[in-house]
Amino acid sequence: MAEYADIIIDISHEKLDHTFQYRIPAHLAGKIYPGVLVNVPFGRGNSLRRGFVVEVKGQAEFDEDKIKDLDSVAEDSVAIESQLISLAAWMRKNYGATMNQALKTVIPVKQKVKAKEKRMVCLCMEKEEAKEQLLLFQKKHYTARARLLEELLAHPEISYEIVTQKLNVSPAVIRALEEKQILEITKERKYRNPAGHLRKSEYQVKLNDMQRKAVDTVLSNMQKGVQKTYLLHGVTGSGKTEVYMELIADVQKKGRQAIVLIPEIALTYQTVMRFYARFGDRVSIINSRLSQGERYDQFLRAKNGEIDIMIGPRSALFTPFLHLGLIIIDEEHEGSYKSESLPRYHARETAIERARMADASVMLGSATPSVDSYYHALNGRYELIELNRRVAEKPLPLCDIVDLREELKKGNRSILSVKLQRLIADRLAKKQQIMLFLNRRGFSGFVSCRACGHVIKCPHCDVSLSLHKESGKEKLICHYCGYEEAKPSVCPECASKYIGGFKAGTQMIESVVAKLFPEARVLRMDFDTTRSKDGYEHILSAFAGHEADILIGTQMIVKGHDFPNVTLVGILAADMSMNAGDYRAAERTFQLLTQAAGRAGRGEEPGEVVIQTYNPGHYSIVTAKKQDYGAFYQAEIAMRKLVSYPPVSNMLLMLFTAEKEKEAAYAAAYFAALTAKAEIDGLKIIGPASAAIGKVKDIYRRVIYFKHQDYAQLVQLKDRIELFLKGRTDLNQVNISFDFNPINGI
Ligand code: ADP
Ligand code: ZN
Ligand code: ZN
Repeated sequence: MAEYADIIIDISHEKLDHTFQYRIPAHLAGKIYPGVLVNVPFGRGNSLRRGFVVEVKGQAEFDEDKIKDLDSVAEDSVAIESQLISLAAWMRKNYGATMNQALKTVIPVKQKVKAKEKRMVCLCMEKEEAKEQLLLFQKKHYTARARLLEELLAHPEISYEIVTQKLNVSPAVIRALEEKQILEITKERKYRNPAGHLRKSEYQVKLNDMQRKAVDTVLSNMQKGVQKTYLLHGVTGSGKTEVYMELIADVQKKGRQAIVLIPEIALTYQTVMRFYARFGDRVSIINSRLSQGERYDQFLRAKNGEIDIMIGPRSALFTPFLHLGLIIIDEEHEGSYKSESLPRYHARETAIERARMADASVMLGSATPSVDSYYHALNGRYELIELNRRVAEKPLPLCDIVDLREELKKGNRSILSVKLQRLIADRLAKKQQIMLFLNRRGFSGFVSCRACGHVIKCPHCDVSLSLHKESGKEKLICHYCGYEEAKPSVCPECASKYIGGFKAGTQMIESVVAKLFPEARVLRMDFDTTRSKDGYEHILSAFAGHEADILIGTQMIVKGHDFPNVTLVGILAADMSMNAGDYRAAERTFQLLTQAAGRAGRGEEPGEVVIQTYNPGHYSIVTAKKQDYGAFYQAEIAMRKLVSYPPVSNMLLMLFTAEKEKEAAYAAAYFAALTAKAEIDGLKIIGPASAAIGKVKDIYRRVIYFKHQDYAQLVQLKDRIELFLKGRTDLNQVNISFDFNPINGI
C-alpha cells in the first residue's frame, strides 16, 4: 500500500500550517520520515522545489489523481530544520498533539518586525565623582539609587532591560539619575555586550577539587565519545554555575554550542552578568517578554553562528544551533519545565532526545533534584555527580518547626504562632526584613483537623480529598479516581469539632499582620498584585530598596532573589502544599521549604526560619529542616513504589473538556469502559473523575488516569485512541487531549 508524505515547501513560516501531500514512490519507501529534505515537483510547471517532510501517512487525504509523486531525497543538506522537525515528530508521538502544534513549538514564527532599538544605561560621570555620589546615596538610604550606581561603577554600560528587570531598579530611579547627569541613556541599534569592557581574565575562578572532578568526569567521557545525561546535585552556593561555565567553555573551544535552561524567575541579574562576563557577546538571552519576532531574531543569530550560548527558559531548548554540544538544565526540578500547552512536553526528556540527535550531552542541576531525576541517576540512566559543600561555608539558617495543634491548645487561633509573632517584633525593632510565605500552588481545598492534624485522604490513591460544594451539600472528592464521601462533622481520629476546609489567603494574612504590627510597612505579592505588566518587578524592587519591612507572598517570592537584609522567613502553612491532592505534594513541599529557608540570612546577619504546620512529624518537613535530601528521597520513593506513581510507574492523563457537563462525563465514562475492554496487560485505569479544577471559564473538565510500568505502552494506547477518534463524529462536542506524567495539576 502506498504511503504519503506531508511536505512544507517554505519553512519560513507564516506557512507552517500549509503542507502539500505527495505520494512516496516504491523505491523511496523507508527513506522518508519527518525532517528529511526532499525534492518535489511543484506548481503547474512541475519545477523541482525543496521541502521538508513533516509527517508520513498511510492514507491519501486528497483526490488520489491529484497527488504527485515525490521526486527524490535531497542529498547535500544538513539543515538544522531537519533535526528540529524530527524532534517535533518525536514530541508529537511521545506527548500527544497534532504535528502542526508540535512544529509551532519548535520552530519560531517569522514576523516582520522592525529591529528594536536597544537602550543602554551608561555612567557619564568620572569614577571618583561617582564614588562620592554613591557614598551620599548610601548615607541617605537611597538604596535603589545606590544599587544602580554601584553596578554602573562595576559595569559602566548596562542594558536598560537588565537594569529594570533584573537589577529591580524602576524607570523613575533611572530618570532621576539621568536628570542629575550621573548617567545617560543611549540608543543602540545593535545589541552590545553589557559587560564588554571587562577583561575575561578578571572573571576566572579556579575550580575547587570537587568542581574540577565534576568537570573532568564529563570531559573525559566526551573525549571518549561518550555522550550522557548527568545529574549535578549540589546545594545552593556549591558552585554549580561555575561547573556549567567551565563545560561550556570547553564545548565552545571545540566549535560547538550550548543551551542553558534556567527558569525565568531564577534568571537574575547576577546570573546574567556572570555569563556575559565570561563569554562576552557570544552569549544571548531570551525570555518570555520577547515578542515572536524578537525571539525569531535571536534564533536567527544562533543559526548564523553569531552566538554559541543561548540562555533562557523552556523554549530556549529549540535554539537552532547546528553543532550543539551541551544542554544544561539548571533548577531541573522546576515545574515550569513542563509545558502546559500542547504538546505538553517536559524540557528534560525533550532535551535528552535533542542531545541524542545532535550527539551532545545533557547536564541537569539542582539543590533539590526531582524525585524522577534522582531515581534515574540511582538506576544508572543518568550519571550522578555531587557537590556536597558550599564554596564559602556559610551556616545554614536556624530552622524551627511550630506545631499549630499546640497553638490551638494554648488558645491561639491566629495564623501567626506566638513564636513567629515574637520574632517578627524582634526583626522590626532591629530594622531587618521579613518574608512571610503562603504556598497556594496546586491548592485544592483539603479538609483537616485543627486539633490533631488529621487530613482526610482517598482510601485508594493516598492523596488528600478535596472539598466541593454542590447544591448546598459539602462532599469530599478524589481528583484521581473520583471516590466521594460526605464531609464529616467531627474528626474521625479524635472526634474534635475543629475539622473543616483549610482557609488562608495572602489578603487575610496582610490584614492580620496590619492589626498586630500597625507600624510595619507591608507589601503583598500574589496573583492579584502582580497582574499588571510590571507589578512583579515593582514589588521586588521596592522590597529590595527596603521600602517595606515585610513581604507577604505566594511561591513567587521564594525563588532566586537575594535580599541580604532578610533575616526571618515564616512559612505560614506548610500543610497547604503537603496536602495539595496530588502525588507530588510531598516533593513540592520539600523543595519549597528548602528554597524558602534559603531566603533567610543571605547577608551578614544569620537567618532564621519558622515552619508552621499541623503535621510536624511529616517526613517532608522533618527532612527539610535538616536539609537532608537523601532521607527525603528514601521516604518519598518508598511511597511512590507502594502506590505505583512515577517515576516507578508511568501515568497518562486523558483530559475531556466540553461546554456541557453531560458530554464531558459521557465521553470520559465511555473511554474508561472502552479501554477496560481492551484488556491491556499491566494497565491500570483510574477514574473517570472530575479534574482538580472541574470547570474553567464555563468549560467542564473530566479526567481518566492510566498507569503502566512501560511508557511505550501508554504511547501506544494514546495512538490507538487517536486513531479511534478519527472516525467518530459523535464525540465532536468534546475536546480530548493527553498529558504524560502530568505535574502541574490539571
Ligand atoms: P550554585 O550555582 O551552586 O548556586 P555558584 O556557582 O553560583 O553556585 O557559586 C556560588 C558563589 O561561589 C558564587 O559567587 C561563585 O562566584 C563563587 N564560586 C564558585 N566556585 C568558586 C571557586 N572555585 N572559587 C571561588 N569562588 C567560587
Ligand atoms: Zn482530629
Ligand atoms: Zn482516589
